Amino acid sequence: MDEMSRQAISDDKEFCWHPFTRQSEWTAAEHEPLMLVKGEGVWLEDAEGNRYIDGNASIWTNVHGHNHPAINTAIKQQLDQVAHTSYLGFAHPKAGELARKLAGFFEGTELKRTFFSDDGSTAIECALKMAIQYRLQNQEADRTEFVAFINCYHGDTMGAASLGGVDAFFSRFRKFGFPVRFVTSVEELKALEGLERVAGVVIEPMVQGVNQIHVWPEGMLRELRDFTEEQGIFLILDEVMTGFGRTGKMFACQHEGVVPDFLCLAKGLTGGYLPMAATMVRESIYEGFLGGAERAFYYGHSYTASQLGCAAALASLEVFEQERTFENLQPKISLLQEALQEIKQGSAWVWDVRQCGMVAGIELRQQDGAPFEPAERVGEKVCVAARKHGLLTRAILDTIVVMPPLAINEDEIKLMLKAIEAAITDELGEK
Ligand SMILES: *Cc1c(COP(=O)(O)O)cnc(C)c1O
Repeated sequence: MDEMSRQAISDDKEFCWHPFTRQSEWTAAEHEPLMLVKGEGVWLEDAEGNRYIDGNASIWTNVHGHNHPAINTAIKQQLDQVAHTSYLGFAHPKAGELARKLAGFFEGTELKRTFFSDDGSTAIECALKMAIQYRLQNQEADRTEFVAFINCYHGDTMGAASLGGVDAFFSRFRKFGFPVRFVTSVEELKALEGLERVAGVVIEPMVQGVNQIHVWPEGMLRELRDFTEEQGIFLILDEVMTGFGRTGKMFACQHEGVVPDFLCLAKGLTGGYLPMAATMVRESIYEGFLGGAERAFYYGHSYTASQLGCAAALASLEVFEQERTFENLQPKISLLQEALQEIKQGSAWVWDVRQCGMVAGIELRQQDGAPFEPAERVGEKVCVAARKHGLLTRAILDTIVVMPPLAINEDEIKLMLKAIEAAITDELGEK
């Protein structure tokens, strides 16, 4: 290791704090953090020049690959104009153009108005606060509760975290947040008492990411939309992960022809280049905020509608057209499906494979079908082993996440699955 790498590691261990990380293990003498320094397409390179496929799209953000010339150019051109200006009290052309393009995906519907923020969590936070404020100032002050789905994940700011269904992350904070009830299905929602007190239902449509890639039953989203509409309950879709092509369509709600009341977008919005989020809202809800000062939505962040972020997002949307991303995606989705079946049949350690478009999970269990002891951290170990075979990804418990940039090609998909297979054998032995 050269002097620069040694310095980088000691800076990290002495001064930084990583997300969702046991810092005592991270900073231990024997742990050598992987320093990523370059990217090109679906490949990432570490400080020593080793190359890896970005198998989880840099935590579910990257869409068209790293170092994409069109997105790079758009950001550089914007940088030469101005990097950032306040969206509080001022406007700029790119934000309007981006909001118009987002509305264009829902043309002819009421989903039209966009409020910008920075991250998935803040996109959700906005939707929750808008929902509550709308109810308070529009003669529905009793509707102040939310319903969410068990094992869901909607982000880490307090409001978003109060919806979080993963106890290990959220239970200690739950009493400080919004009143939320959790259900496992639309049937359970229908059976709840006091639905007239519910402001909104929040769901990750089609597939829950953090819940080990849990795919919802077909038709469920449609049924949820019909029921919430009938009950006057807002449907808040968290498409932070599923948005921008991940499930094979631009937005997951399009699989079942659903238009929500709120649509929360982030991760892939800028192609995975810059932090930026959007909360789209029905025009009739927006209109509930018109009038005097007391009706304004008092919410915003310093970097709201960041000019660089908007430039990247517009470029990313253009790349979808230029590269005909969706046309090219179908054969890749089919290939991924075949490869997943192969790994399931070929390895006795693979208990289940789950897939929705280009989002997949490979669940590992003991050969008798019993889950591994969580303390063994099998999923995590398999992902570390996969690095030697040229793949970076993360597991959720013992489910290996496969969520590459949409730009991945067929050979790279095969490489990715081979790396996982080899890593499973390294950690658990043959079959
Ligand atoms: C990542 C994620 C979030 C949170 O987004 P951040 O940008 O990390 O704040 C919210 N919801 C879902 C479904 C996510 O996958």
